Amino acid sequence: MILLAGGAGYIGSHTALYLAEKGVPFAVYDNLSRGHRESALGWEIIEGDIGDAQRLAALMRDLKVDAVIHFCAYALVGESMRFPGMYYENNVANGISLLRAMVEAKVQNLVFSSSCAVYGEPSAEFIGESLPHNPVNPYGETKRIFENMLDWFDRAYGLRSVRLRYFNAAGADEKARIGESHDPETHLIPLVLKAASGERKSVSIFGTDYPTPDGTCIRDYVHVTDLAQAHLAACEYLREGGRTAAFNLGYGRGYSVREIIDACRKVSGREFAVEEAPRRPGDPPRLVADNRSIRTALPDLEFRFDDLGKIIGTAWEWEKNRRF
Ligand code: UDP
Repeated sequence: MILLAGGAGYIGSHTALYLAEKGVPFAVYDNLSRGHRESALGWEIIEGDIGDAQRLAALMRDLKVDAVIHFCAYALVGESMRFPGMYYENNVANGISLLRAMVEAKVQNLVFSSSCAVYGEPSAEFIGESLPHNPVNPYGETKRIFENMLDWFDRAYGLRSVRLRYFNAAGADEKARIGESHDPETHLIPLVLKAASGERKSVSIFGTDYPTPDGTCIRDYVHVTDLAQAHLAACEYLREGGRTAAFNLGYGRGYSVREIIDACRKVSGREFAVEEAPRRPGDPPRLVADNRSIRTALPDLEFRFDDLGKIIGTAWEWEKNRRF
Protein backbone atom coordinates (compact mmCIF):
# COMPACT_ATOMS: atom_id res chain seq x y z
CA MET A 1 0.00 0.00 0.00
CA ILE A 2 1.36 3.39 -1.00
CA LEU A 3 0.50 6.45 1.08
CA LEU A 4 0.26 9.63 -0.97
CA ALA A 5 0.92 12.41 1.53
CA GLY A 6 -0.31 15.53 -0.23
CA GLY A 7 -2.20 13.43 -2.75
CA ALA A 8 -4.88 16.05 -3.39
CA GLY A 9 -2.48 18.60 -4.86
CA TYR A 10 -1.53 19.03 -8.49
CA ILE A 11 1.15 16.35 -8.87
CA GLY A 12 -0.23 14.19 -6.05
CA SER A 13 -3.69 13.93 -7.58
CA HIS A 14 -2.33 13.02 -11.02
CA THR A 15 -0.25 10.33 -9.33
CA ALA A 16 -3.34 9.05 -7.51
CA LEU A 17 -5.21 8.86 -10.81
CA TYR A 18 -2.28 7.07 -12.45
CA LEU A 19 -2.15 4.49 -9.62
CA ALA A 20 -5.93 4.05 -9.71
CA GLU A 21 -5.80 3.29 -13.44
CA LYS A 22 -2.97 0.79 -12.90
CA GLY A 23 -4.87 -0.89 -10.06
CA VAL A 24 -2.10 -0.14 -7.56
CA PRO A 25 -3.38 0.16 -3.95
CA PHE A 26 -2.93 3.64 -2.47
CA ALA A 27 -4.39 6.01 0.11
CA VAL A 28 -4.46 9.80 -0.03
CA TYR A 29 -3.66 11.89 3.05
CA ASP A 30 -4.00 15.65 2.66
CA ASN A 31 -4.89 18.65 4.80
CA LEU A 32 -6.54 20.34 1.79
CA SER A 33 -4.67 23.58 2.49
CA ARG A 34 -3.66 23.72 -1.15
CA GLY A 35 -5.18 20.55 -2.52
CA HIS A 36 -8.69 20.00 -3.85
CA ARG A 37 -11.37 17.66 -2.60
CA GLU A 38 -12.70 17.46 -6.19
CA SER A 39 -9.42 15.96 -7.38
CA ALA A 40 -10.41 12.59 -5.86
CA LEU A 41 -12.11 10.57 -8.58
CA GLY A 42 -13.78 7.84 -6.56
CA TRP A 43 -11.19 7.47 -3.82
CA GLU A 44 -11.22 8.82 -0.30
CA ILE A 45 -9.11 11.72 0.91
CA ILE A 46 -8.08 11.14 4.50
CA GLU A 47 -8.00 14.67 5.87
CA GLY A 48 -5.08 15.34 8.13
CA ASP A 49 -1.84 17.14 8.64
CA ILE A 50 1.63 15.63 8.32
CA GLY A 51 2.51 17.56 11.47
CA ASP A 52 0.42 14.96 13.32
CA ALA A 53 3.08 12.22 13.52
CA GLN A 54 1.14 9.95 15.88
CA ARG A 55 -1.93 9.84 13.71
CA LEU A 56 0.19 9.26 10.64
CA ALA A 57 2.10 6.41 12.25
CA ALA A 58 -1.16 4.75 13.33
CA LEU A 59 -2.57 5.18 9.85
CA MET A 60 0.51 3.66 8.24
CA ARG A 61 0.25 0.65 10.52
CA ASP A 62 -3.50 0.23 10.02
CA LEU A 63 -3.27 0.47 6.25
CA LYS A 64 -0.10 -1.67 6.08
CA VAL A 65 1.70 1.06 4.16
CA ASP A 66 5.07 -0.02 2.78
CA ALA A 67 5.93 3.10 0.78
CA VAL A 68 5.21 6.80 1.13
CA ILE A 69 5.23 9.43 -1.58
CA HIS A 70 5.68 12.81 0.05
CA PHE A 71 4.17 15.68 -1.94
CA CYS A 72 3.30 17.92 1.02
CA ALA A 73 5.15 21.15 0.51
CA TYR A 74 4.70 24.73 -0.49
CA ALA A 75 6.21 25.15 -3.92
CA LEU A 76 6.14 28.78 -5.03
CA VAL A 77 9.46 30.52 -5.51
CA GLY A 78 8.03 34.04 -5.22
CA GLU A 79 6.03 33.24 -2.09
CA SER A 80 9.08 31.64 -0.49
CA MET A 81 11.07 34.84 -1.03
CA ARG A 82 8.38 36.84 0.77
CA PHE A 83 7.57 34.36 3.54
CA PRO A 84 10.65 32.20 4.14
CA GLY A 85 9.58 31.09 7.64
CA MET A 86 6.42 29.53 6.28
CA TYR A 87 8.55 27.42 3.93
CA TYR A 88 10.89 26.19 6.66
CA GLU A 89 7.92 25.38 8.88
CA ASN A 90 5.93 23.40 6.35
CA ASN A 91 8.61 21.94 4.10
CA VAL A 92 11.15 21.12 6.79
CA ALA A 93 9.51 20.95 10.24
CA ASN A 94 6.34 19.17 9.11
CA GLY A 95 8.41 16.92 6.87
CA ILE A 96 10.39 15.77 9.91
CA SER A 97 7.16 14.75 11.54
CA LEU A 98 6.33 12.60 8.49
CA LEU A 99 9.74 10.93 8.75
CA ARG A 100 9.23 10.34 12.45
CA ALA A 101 5.95 8.60 11.70
CA MET A 102 7.63 6.44 9.05
CA VAL A 103 10.35 5.39 11.46
CA GLU A 104 7.77 4.59 14.13
CA ALA A 105 5.64 2.55 11.71
CA LYS A 106 8.75 0.95 10.17
CA VAL A 107 7.99 2.15 6.66
CA GLN A 108 11.29 2.21 4.82
CA ASN A 109 10.56 3.41 1.30
CA LEU A 110 10.06 7.08 0.52
CA VAL A 111 9.68 8.93 -2.76
CA PHE A 112 10.23 12.62 -2.13
CA SER A 113 9.11 15.51 -4.34
CA SER A 114 12.28 17.49 -4.70
CA SER A 115 13.07 20.19 -7.20
CA CYS A 116 15.65 21.49 -9.62
CA ALA A 117 15.54 24.57 -7.37
CA VAL A 118 18.16 22.79 -5.22
CA TYR A 119 20.77 23.63 -7.89
CA GLY A 120 20.30 27.39 -7.79
CA GLU A 121 21.71 29.06 -10.88
CA PRO A 122 23.98 26.47 -12.46
CA SER A 123 25.99 27.63 -15.46
CA ALA A 124 25.85 24.18 -17.09
CA GLU A 125 23.61 23.97 -20.13
CA PHE A 126 22.18 20.67 -18.89
CA ILE A 127 21.95 20.11 -15.16
CA GLY A 128 23.30 16.81 -13.85
CA GLU A 129 22.61 15.48 -10.35
CA SER A 130 26.20 15.91 -9.21
CA LEU A 131 26.31 19.68 -9.70
CA PRO A 132 26.67 21.66 -6.48
CA HIS A 133 23.54 22.59 -4.57
CA ASN A 134 23.37 26.36 -4.16
CA PRO A 135 19.67 27.25 -4.00
CA VAL A 136 18.83 30.90 -4.62
CA ASN A 137 15.44 30.95 -2.89
CA PRO A 138 14.01 29.56 0.36
CA TYR A 139 11.90 27.05 -1.58
CA GLY A 140 15.00 25.38 -3.05
CA GLU A 141 16.80 25.68 0.28
CA THR A 142 14.06 23.75 2.10
CA LYS A 143 14.22 21.01 -0.54
CA ARG A 144 18.00 20.79 -0.15
CA ILE A 145 17.74 20.56 3.66
CA PHE A 146 15.17 17.79 3.44
CA GLU A 147 17.21 15.82 0.91
CA ASN A 148 20.29 16.01 3.14
CA MET A 149 18.25 14.87 6.10
CA LEU A 150 17.12 11.83 4.17
CA ASP A 151 20.72 10.59 3.84
CA TRP A 152 21.03 10.54 7.62
CA PHE A 153 17.68 8.77 8.04
CA ASP A 154 18.93 6.12 5.67
CA ARG A 155 22.07 5.61 7.74
CA ALA A 156 20.28 5.64 11.06
CA TYR A 157 17.10 3.71 10.24
CA GLY A 158 17.51 2.15 6.80
CA LEU A 159 14.83 4.49 5.45
CA ARG A 160 15.66 4.54 1.74
CA SER A 161 14.48 7.29 -0.53
CA VAL A 162 14.28 8.44 -4.11
CA ARG A 163 14.28 12.21 -4.46
CA LEU A 164 12.71 13.20 -7.72
CA ARG A 165 14.01 16.62 -8.66
CA TYR A 166 11.21 17.89 -10.80
CA PHE A 167 11.81 20.52 -13.38
CA ASN A 168 8.59 22.40 -14.35
CA ALA A 169 5.48 20.27 -13.89
CA ALA A 170 2.88 21.18 -16.50
CA GLY A 171 -0.16 19.91 -18.40
CA ALA A 172 -3.19 17.99 -17.20
CA ASP A 173 -4.81 14.57 -17.32
CA GLU A 174 -5.32 13.68 -20.99
CA LYS A 175 -9.07 13.29 -20.45
CA ALA A 176 -9.22 16.63 -18.58
CA ARG A 177 -10.72 14.94 -15.52
CA ILE A 178 -8.27 16.79 -13.28
CA GLY A 179 -5.67 19.48 -13.87
CA GLU A 180 -3.68 22.33 -12.42
CA SER A 181 -5.46 24.71 -10.07
CA HIS A 182 -3.69 27.05 -7.69
CA ASP A 183 -5.13 29.99 -5.83
CA PRO A 184 -3.70 32.41 -6.63
CA GLU A 185 -2.27 30.95 -9.84
CA THR A 186 1.36 31.95 -10.37
CA HIS A 187 2.56 29.41 -12.96
CA LEU A 188 3.32 30.44 -16.47
CA ILE A 189 1.28 28.01 -18.61
CA PRO A 190 -2.05 28.33 -16.74
CA LEU A 191 -1.64 32.10 -16.64
CA VAL A 192 -1.00 32.33 -20.37
CA LEU A 193 -4.00 30.08 -21.04
CA LYS A 194 -6.18 32.25 -18.79
CA ALA A 195 -5.20 35.19 -21.00
CA ALA A 196 -6.11 33.05 -24.02
CA SER A 197 -9.51 32.14 -22.58
CA GLY A 198 -10.23 35.77 -21.73
CA GLU A 199 -10.34 35.11 -17.97
CA ARG A 200 -7.37 37.46 -17.59
CA LYS A 201 -6.74 40.62 -19.55
CA SER A 202 -3.11 39.87 -20.33
CA VAL A 203 -0.04 37.91 -19.32
CA SER A 204 3.24 39.40 -18.11
CA ILE A 205 6.73 38.28 -19.03
CA PHE A 206 8.89 38.54 -15.90
CA GLY A 207 12.21 39.79 -17.24
CA THR A 208 13.33 40.24 -20.82
CA ASP A 209 17.01 40.91 -20.11
CA TYR A 210 18.19 37.46 -19.06
CA PRO A 211 21.32 36.02 -20.71
CA THR A 212 19.26 33.72 -22.97
CA PRO A 213 18.69 33.92 -26.74
CA ASP A 214 15.41 35.87 -26.49
CA GLY A 215 16.10 37.43 -23.06
CA THR A 216 13.42 35.44 -21.21
CA CYS A 217 13.86 32.53 -18.76
CA ILE A 218 14.17 28.99 -20.05
CA ARG A 219 12.55 26.04 -18.29
CA ASP A 220 12.20 22.30 -18.90
CA TYR A 221 8.43 21.63 -18.81
CA VAL A 222 7.47 18.04 -17.92
CA HIS A 223 3.99 16.61 -18.28
CA VAL A 224 2.37 15.79 -14.96
CA THR A 225 1.29 12.29 -16.05
CA ASP A 226 4.90 11.45 -16.90
CA LEU A 227 5.81 12.67 -13.42
CA ALA A 228 3.09 10.41 -12.02
CA GLN A 229 4.51 7.42 -13.87
CA ALA A 230 7.98 8.20 -12.49
CA HIS A 231 6.65 8.09 -8.93
CA LEU A 232 5.33 4.58 -9.35
CA ALA A 233 8.57 3.48 -11.02
CA ALA A 234 10.54 5.00 -8.12
CA CYS A 235 8.35 3.14 -5.59
CA GLU A 236 8.95 -0.13 -7.40
CA TYR A 237 12.68 0.57 -7.52
CA LEU A 238 12.72 1.01 -3.73
CA ARG A 239 10.50 -2.00 -3.11
CA GLU A 240 12.96 -4.10 -5.08
CA GLY A 241 15.73 -2.95 -2.74
CA GLY A 242 17.08 -0.02 -4.80
CA ARG A 243 19.49 2.29 -3.00
CA THR A 244 18.78 5.84 -1.92
CA ALA A 245 19.13 8.07 -4.97
CA ALA A 246 18.30 11.46 -6.45
CA PHE A 247 17.10 11.79 -10.02
CA ASN A 248 16.42 14.78 -12.21
CA LEU A 249 13.00 14.58 -13.75
CA GLY A 250 12.83 16.68 -16.86
CA TYR A 251 12.82 15.99 -20.59
CA GLY A 252 16.16 17.67 -21.22
CA ARG A 253 14.70 20.33 -23.47
CA GLY A 254 14.14 23.98 -22.58
CA TYR A 255 11.60 26.54 -23.74
CA SER A 256 11.72 30.28 -23.10
CA VAL A 257 8.78 32.25 -21.73
CA ARG A 258 8.25 33.73 -25.19
CA GLU A 259 8.24 30.27 -26.78
CA ILE A 260 5.63 29.11 -24.29
CA ILE A 261 3.45 32.11 -25.07
CA ASP A 262 3.75 31.42 -28.82
CA ALA A 263 2.89 27.74 -28.30
CA CYS A 264 -0.18 28.71 -26.23
CA ARG A 265 -1.33 31.04 -29.03
CA LYS A 266 -0.97 28.23 -31.53
CA VAL A 267 -2.74 25.56 -29.45
CA SER A 268 -5.62 27.80 -28.37
CA GLY A 269 -5.94 29.69 -31.63
CA ARG A 270 -6.55 32.83 -29.56
CA GLU A 271 -4.86 36.22 -29.50
CA PHE A 272 -4.18 38.00 -26.21
CA ALA A 273 -2.12 40.84 -24.78
CA VAL A 274 1.42 40.26 -23.50
CA GLU A 275 3.21 42.77 -21.27
CA GLU A 276 6.89 42.98 -20.47
CA ALA A 277 7.49 43.27 -16.74
CA PRO A 278 10.55 43.37 -14.42
CA ARG A 279 12.27 40.18 -13.32
CA ARG A 280 10.68 38.14 -10.52
CA PRO A 281 13.17 37.78 -7.64
CA GLY A 282 14.64 34.29 -7.22
CA ASP A 283 14.24 33.13 -10.85
CA PRO A 284 17.33 31.49 -12.40
CA PRO A 285 17.75 32.21 -16.16
CA ARG A 286 17.88 28.62 -17.39
CA LEU A 287 16.95 25.26 -15.84
CA VAL A 288 17.13 22.25 -18.15
CA ALA A 289 17.69 18.67 -16.99
CA ASP A 290 20.33 16.18 -17.87
CA ASN A 291 18.01 13.18 -17.33
CA ARG A 292 20.36 10.32 -18.14
CA SER A 293 20.43 9.01 -14.53
CA ILE A 294 16.71 8.39 -14.26
CA ARG A 295 16.60 6.81 -17.70
CA THR A 296 19.35 4.40 -16.68
CA ALA A 297 18.04 3.61 -13.18
CA LEU A 298 14.36 3.28 -14.18
CA PRO A 299 14.66 1.87 -17.72
CA ASP A 300 10.95 1.08 -18.06
CA LEU A 301 10.05 4.74 -17.72
CA GLU A 302 8.53 5.96 -20.94
CA PHE A 303 7.88 9.67 -21.38
CA ARG A 304 4.57 9.58 -23.25
CA PHE A 305 3.93 13.32 -23.20
CA ASP A 306 7.36 14.65 -24.18
CA ASP A 307 5.94 17.17 -26.61
CA LEU A 308 5.14 20.83 -25.94
CA GLY A 309 1.97 20.62 -28.04
CA LYS A 310 0.66 17.76 -25.87
CA ILE A 311 1.59 19.53 -22.65
CA ILE A 312 -0.17 22.73 -23.63
CA GLY A 313 -2.99 20.87 -25.40
CA THR A 314 -3.94 18.96 -22.22
CA ALA A 315 -3.58 22.13 -20.12
CA TRP A 316 -5.86 24.00 -22.57
CA GLU A 317 -8.55 21.28 -22.48
CA TRP A 318 -8.50 21.47 -18.69
CA GLU A 319 -8.59 25.26 -18.72
CA LYS A 320 -11.75 25.17 -20.85
CA ASN A 321 -13.44 22.43 -18.79
CA ARG A 322 -12.05 22.91 -15.30
CA ARG A 323 -14.14 21.68 -12.35
CA PHE A 324 -12.02 23.31 -9.63
N1 UDP B 1 6.72 33.67 -15.62
C1 UDP B 1 6.38 34.80 -16.36
N2 UDP B 1 5.12 35.32 -16.18
C2 UDP B 1 4.21 34.78 -15.34
C3 UDP B 1 4.57 33.62 -14.60
C4 UDP B 1 5.85 33.09 -14.77
O1 UDP B 1 7.16 35.32 -17.13
O2 UDP B 1 3.11 35.33 -15.22
C5 UDP B 1 8.07 33.09 -15.81
C6 UDP B 1 8.87 32.94 -14.53
O3 UDP B 1 9.58 34.12 -14.26
C7 UDP B 1 9.77 31.76 -14.85
C8 UDP B 1 8.93 30.91 -15.81
O4 UDP B 1 7.90 31.77 -16.29
O5 UDP B 1 10.91 32.18 -15.54
C9 UDP B 1 8.27 29.71 -15.13
O6 UDP B 1 7.64 30.17 -13.95
P1 UDP B 1 6.66 29.28 -13.10
O7 UDP B 1 6.16 30.12 -11.97
O8 UDP B 1 5.65 28.66 -14.00
O9 UDP B 1 7.57 28.08 -12.57
P2 UDP B 1 8.94 28.09 -11.70
O10 UDP B 1 10.05 28.01 -12.71
O11 UDP B 1 8.99 29.33 -10.87
O12 UDP B 1 8.84 26.87 -10.88
